[in-house]
Formats: sequence, structure tokens, C-alpha cells
Amino acid sequence: MAKVHIWQQNPEPITDIVSEETADVVVLGAGIAGCIATQSVAESGASVICAEKFDKPSSHGTDVAAVNSIVQEREGVHVDPLEAARLIYQWSQQQANYNLIRIWADRSGEVVSHYVELAEQYGYTVRLNSWLTARADWYDLEEKYRMFRTAHLFEVPEGSDLKKERWNATYLVTVAYKDALKHGAKFMFNSPAVRLVKENGRVTGAIVKTDEGYKKLNAKNGVILATGGITDNDEMKECFCPISLRADKNENYPKGGNMGDGLVMGKWIGAAFSRCYPAPIIHPVNLSVLGPGMASSWLIVNRYGKRFMNETAFEPMITNARMTAPGNVAWTIWDSNYMEHFKAQEPDKFSALPENTPELVEKCVESGEYKKAETLEGLAEQIDVPADNLKATVERYNQIVRDGNDVDFGVPERFLSPCEQGPFYATKISAWLLSLPYGLHVDDNSQVCTEEDDPIPGLYAVGNVQGDYWANSYPVTCPGSSHGRSVTFGRLVGCALAQNKNIDGTDAM
Ligand SMILES: Cc1cc2nc3c(=O)[nH]c(=O)nc-3n(C[C@H](O)[C@H](O)[C@H](O)COP(=O)(O)OP(=O)(O)OC[C@H]3O[C@@H](n4cnc5c(N)ncnc54)[C@H](O)[C@@H]3O)c2cc1C
Repeated sequence: MAKVHIWQQNPEPITDIVSEETADVVVLGAGIAGCIATQSVAESGASVICAEKFDKPSSHGTDVAAVNSIVQEREGVHVDPLEAARLIYQWSQQQANYNLIRIWADRSGEVVSHYVELAEQYGYTVRLNSWLTARADWYDLEEKYRMFRTAHLFEVPEGSDLKKERWNATYLVTVAYKDALKHGAKFMFNSPAVRLVKENGRVTGAIVKTDEGYKKLNAKNGVILATGGITDNDEMKECFCPISLRADKNENYPKGGNMGDGLVMGKWIGAAFSRCYPAPIIHPVNLSVLGPGMASSWLIVNRYGKRFMNETAFEPMITNARMTAPGNVAWTIWDSNYMEHFKAQEPDKFSALPENTPELVEKCVESGEYKKAETLEGLAEQIDVPADNLKATVERYNQIVRDGNDVDFGVPERFLSPCEQGPFYATKISAWLLSLPYGLHVDDNSQVCTEEDDPIPGLYAVGNVQGDYWANSYPVTCPGSSHGRSVTFGRLVGCALAQNKNIDGTDAM
């Protein structure tokens, strides 16, 4: 008998409510999208309560994508919003809602500029990141690999308490959180939302579980769901994105935050799930010592020692190929001239590599993360692939490099580096599931909709619980895209709902 999932069941009603509170807007989830939404409502002069499952706001990651912000203007970078939106839309095979992408492309500049100015008041600096994830000059590559300089990096001054935080996104979330408090927002931590309240066809609030019991939060204008995606929910992954179960474990953030609660609560009151297949954010964090090694292309072989993918370092392409490879394994192979190869592939970044990179590489060999052998036969033995196959693969690959024409997989010439000079190195291609955005079906106002595409009065979704935005594969065309759309829609929906309006200026229902 087919399993009946929790989102397909009717939940038990909750009747033992210990107290009620009312605000103009209720936000569920205090991640980047929820904090920005809460701050935006409060800054707009309306009352807001944000309920969060954990004991503080959550944040991770580095880049925040925007198109034509004041930072881009200062740095002389212009991105064509039409081109950026078109490419993201194409990545979804046109499954996504183009209008949502276009709202991000057209309005993220103004939104992120607002937070840049706010952050600067707190002593931060913001610059474009072209180091780790956003390549400096990939906008002139062919469309398949094109990358725009959209990644904004928030930095705090030396001596700031926040310096100890691992992620730059935490700096932005902290600014939003502090500013929300300053404008009178109320945060309730350790208070997971367990139900949406729907009365006479309208979502009028939510029930949250606290140490004191269940509390009902009434929302005069509407509820904004910002509960994140389904990263931590294996049952949902199996149903909606099985490939993500083949990713490696990533222990980078508090587990249990992204259980798809927003989807479940939404489904229970008649919402539909996203029309799109999910687009997992899965990055290869290999060649870790080389830092942006994931931005360089090296020969990759499968467990048979054979080349099987285009190695151009466009993250989702690498990890998708790894996760569908036999045995879910792939090896990067490189030779002892890796510093030269790296310089040829990424001249802009080379100077940022630490001087002692070779020393750090040897440390990885000592730790076992990297394998090293004088000969290809020796390397093949260490990584358990047939030596004859590996030698033949390397020979053919080196011929391709000499010809400057990858007749097998079409890697652009710039990213072809020979593998000739021993000792040789290998490391497993990793596939880290950073985040699995999957959400509710929404309209152009990010208002949650039913299966019949009718907006549900009073309910909006921002961040990873907003569906219909990407499909199939996360586009790194605009680095920082996940934070970028979280911030953009968090603000646009927050500001609009504070006035009881929709993003498009119509009255909220
Ligand atoms: C290591 C790492 C690096 C990353 N790097 C980048 C990057 O550089 N650029 C980029 O764009 N993206 C990056 N990402 C992805 C990005 O961080 C996420 O996609 C983004 O955080 C999504 O924001 P969100 O607010 O929608 O969800 P989340 O940040 O997941 O926040 C959701 C919040 O809702 C809370 N919540 C869940 N259920 C409930 C409930 N029932 N009631 C109340 N609260 C609830 C959660 O506890 C959480 O605090 C990275 C992710 C990771 C893990």
C-alpha cells in the first residue's frame, strides 16, 4: 500500500490555545528571507511578529545576488536584467515563472542597495565578490557557462563581534534583525509554527508551539511563510528530488530547520506545491586547499578510469554528473604543474591563492583527502580504478589539450589543462547539498495559490518556500541567486503587505 505522507493527511485540530496575539503581519521563519521580510514590515510602520523554530535567526553562505545595485554602479559593473532573467529561465527549461525571475532581475538592485546603505550605517562594507563563487570574467563565456558579477559580499570591520561568524550572510541577517527590533518588530524564538489558520477562505494567522503551550498569532493583513526548503527532509527529497539523496552529507548548518514545514502547513489549508521540479543547490567543494579550485577545470574520471563529463567548472553540471555516475563516485585528476594550470585558467584569481598553496596541498595528501603517486599506475591503484583505462584516458585527454579542441565533451580551450608531469594527484569530487529549495505554488505577487491557480487570501511565501522560481538545476549564472531572491521578495512582499497591498500595487486580498 502506498505510503500516505504527512502532507496528504488531515491534521488533528489544535484546541488548547493558551494565548493570542495580533499584528498587521505574521512572518514564519527567521532565516534571511524571514528577517528581511520582518524588517521591511517594521520599517514600513506596520506591526509584525516573526516566529522562529530555533533560538536565533539562521543564516549561512556568502553571496547575495542583485542586478545593478549601488555597489555594482560603484564598481562599474552593469548586468543586463533581460539577459540574466532569460538565462535563469532557460535553466529551468521554462518551467519556472518568468515574471518572478524578472521581478528579481528588475528590482533586486534597488532592494539590495537599501541593505547596503543600511549595513554601511552599521559600519559594514559591501563589495562584489569575484573570488570564491563568482568568477570575474565569466560573463563573456558562451551562454551555457555565462556568469554575471551579481555576488555582493557584506563585510564587517575588524574588531566586530560578528567577525567570529563563519558566513558573510550572517552579517546581513544581523543588520536586518537589529533594524527590525529597532522598528518595533517582535521575534518569538523556539516557537515553531505548526498550523496556518484559515477562516472563511482566508489565512488569518498561525498557531505556534511554545514552552508555555500553543499560541495563536493573528495577522490582520497576511501571513508570510519564510520557513525555507526541504533540505533536511529525506521523505520529501525521495518524493520530489531523489537525486539529492545521492549528495554527500553537509553538516554546515543546524539540522532540522528545513523540514518543509511551510509546504506541509500550506498543503493542509489547500495550497499547491511548486509547479517546478526542485533545483537543489549542490556544489563540488573539492580541491579545497586551492580555494576556488572549484572554479577550475581538471580531468575527471569515473570508477572505470574513463572520462565521462564536461569538466568546465559550472558547479551544478559537475555535481549532477557525479551523482548520476556509476557508484556515485568521480575522481579529479591533476598533475604537479597545477599552479601553472590554475593561473592559465583563472588569471584573475591566481594572485589570491595563498603563497604556501603547495604546502597546503601536501597537507591534504597527508590527511588522505588527496591521493598522490609518482605514476598514473600508482595513482590508479590508490583510487581503485583500472590502470590501463586511466592511462588511456589521460593520453587522449592530453592530446585534446594539445589540439586545443575537446572533440569528446566540448570543454572550452581555456579550461583544458594537461596532466603530464608526475607526481599525479587525485581527489574525490564532492557534492555538497547546501540547500534544497522547494516550495509552494505562487503567483506573480508571491501569493500562495491553490491547485486551480487561485491565490489564497492572506498567504504569501518568500525565500526557499517560494516555489516556481527555479527548476531542475540551480543556475549559478547569477551567483548569490538564492539569497538574492530571498532578500528581494522578502522586502517587496514585506513592504507591500505592511500597506495591505500586493507587490504589483493592487489591494491584498
Ligand atoms: C553552507 C551554505 C552556503 C550557502 N551559500 C550561499 C551563497 O553564497 N549564496 C546564496 O545565494 N545561497 C547560499 N546558500 C543557500 C542559502 O543559504 C539558502 O538557500 C537560504 O538560506 C534560503 O533562505 P530562507 O530564508 O528561505 O531559508 P532558511 O535560511 O533555511 O531559513 C528558514 C528559517 O525558517 C525556520 N523554520 C523552519 N520551519 C519553521 C517553522 N515551522 N516555524 C518557524 N520557523 C521555521 C528555520 O529554522 C530557519 O531559521 C548556502 C547554503 C548553505 C547551507
